Amino acid sequence: VSDFSFYNEKVKEKTVKHPCYNGCNHENARMHLPVAPRCNIQCNYCVRKFDCANESRPGVATRIISPGEALEKYIQVKKTMANLSVVGIAGPGDALCDFENTSRTLRLIREYDPHITFCLSTNGLMLPDHADELDALGVSHVTVTINAVDPEISAGIYKYVRYEGVEYSGDKAGALLLQNQLRGLNRLIEKGIVCKVNIVVLKGINDFHIPEIVKTVKELGCYIVNIMPLIPVQGSEFEHLPAATVQEIMKLRRECGRMIRQMHHCRQCRADAVGCL
Ligand code: SF4
Ligand code: SF4
Repeated sequence: VSDFSFYNEKVKEKTVKHPCYNGCNHENARMHLPVAPRCNIQCNYCVRKFDCANESRPGVATRIISPGEALEKYIQVKKTMANLSVVGIAGPGDALCDFENTSRTLRLIREYDPHITFCLSTNGLMLPDHADELDALGVSHVTVTINAVDPEISAGIYKYVRYEGVEYSGDKAGALLLQNQLRGLNRLIEKGIVCKVNIVVLKGINDFHIPEIVKTVKELGCYIVNIMPLIPVQGSEFEHLPAATVQEIMKLRRECGRMIRQMHHCRQCRADAVGCL
């Protein structure tokens, strides 16, 4: 269902070797480098922790590392993991909120290894500002989490959005975030970057609206969508919201799979995950 003819040969090859963008690829490994601790929005389901070694979900890392430490870690892991094909920045905050750290990390690793695939995930707020630089840094795969394409629905998902020194809430926050997410995705797609959209299913809040999100990002030219259940986290606004069942997720993926390629094997990894899926 996704049009692959749009991408150049190099990007196609990198996509085939990317464990998250290519079906059941368990042969290639990925490595998340936790260099980005801060975030510019507050999702009602998120609690970021930096010291938890036995919890497995996005937003969690044992320790934040500096770009220099990230390079050292990459060099060490690459020595023992010959199938390491992707380096990703996935927080534990937002990769573009801490763009200095993110860009420096990628630059250092690129100097050391011209071939490794770069992947990054973001809430998309800062994408219009940084899309061109991501391309210049050689980032070929970007994930944007979009939980609504209607600002009224977003108002129930995000507590605030901070942009250019101003804090927004309610519909205004939702409208601003959405505008930047869509503009940013558009720019990335123009550049030939492969885009994935993550959607967290929030029962009673956005579950009925998910086909609409998928339709919107499909029309923009995104490659794949990852519909994921909420992980209700203690201390978050949504700690008591029930997670979608496997059957509910499968139903949504089946429905949306008519429009765009679906990811079925996401493990909702930590911000410092290393290895095969
Ligand atoms: Fe947490 Fe990511 Fe949402 Fe920021 S964008 S609040 S790090 S889930
Ligand atoms: Fe891949 Fe999902 Fe893990 Fe990201 S969280 S590395 S998309 S499996």
